[in-house]
Amino acid sequence: MSVPEVLAGLRRAEREAGRSAGSARLVAVTKGHTLDEIDMHILAHGAFPLGESRGQELRDKSTLRPELEWHFIGPLQRNKVKYLNRVTLIHTIEAVWQAEAIAQAAQGWGHAPDVLIQLHNGEPQKHGVSAHDLPATVNAVRATGLQVSGVMVIAPDMAAGADPTGILRVFQETATRAHDLGLSELSMGMSADYPLAVQAGATLIRVGRSLFT
Ligand SMILES: *Cc1c(COP(=O)(O)O)cnc(C)c1O
Repeated sequence: MSVPEVLAGLRRAEREAGRSAGSARLVAVTKGHTLDEIDMHILAHGAFPLGESRGQELRDKSTLRPELEWHFIGPLQRNKVKYLNRVTLIHTIEAVWQAEAIAQAAQGWGHAPDVLIQLHNGEPQKHGVSAHDLPATVNAVRATGLQVSGVMVIAPDMAAGADPTGILRVFQETATRAHDLGLSELSMGMSADYPLAVQAGATLIRVGRSLFT
């Protein structure tokens, strides 16, 4: 697939969900791909935010191409915070200390990224805060001065036996939790499951593999 094919699939999913065209935006996940590949496969088709999940790789690419819009979508370790100075949105805040570290670093950067809180999806070994802890986490992250604009979730893995019904339910529950807290940005859906995420209200889909193959 390619960017035009994924965009066509996105527009179709919006239409089928009764949503307006463009209400879900593509975040092009570019981890593991060179800047040349990104130019050829992604940016030739338009301007899209680029999602990176590894600290050093993000630093290297965003330093060379600071004019592009960079999002961080990976697990955030303390020693990686310094690589996020060109990021406009962090999708994966799952602990208050991460927000405190970003807010502190942002004072030196002179600007702060917005953040999403990652919700746990119920699978063992997965990242994110529980639904129970979400409201308190949102409040504590806001207290650092960062802007919390929404919620992110990674669906249970189809390869590990999750079925579309269960995945849709996780997306719908995530949308409900975000809505209950007045949070509008919903980062959910990847190559395998983004139509379900759009059906449930995703505003940002994070698609990687499908854009390059
Ligand atoms: C790699 C990655 C994606 C993209 O997944 P694809 O299956 O390549 O579309 C989305 N979200 C996160 C957090 C990722 O690490």
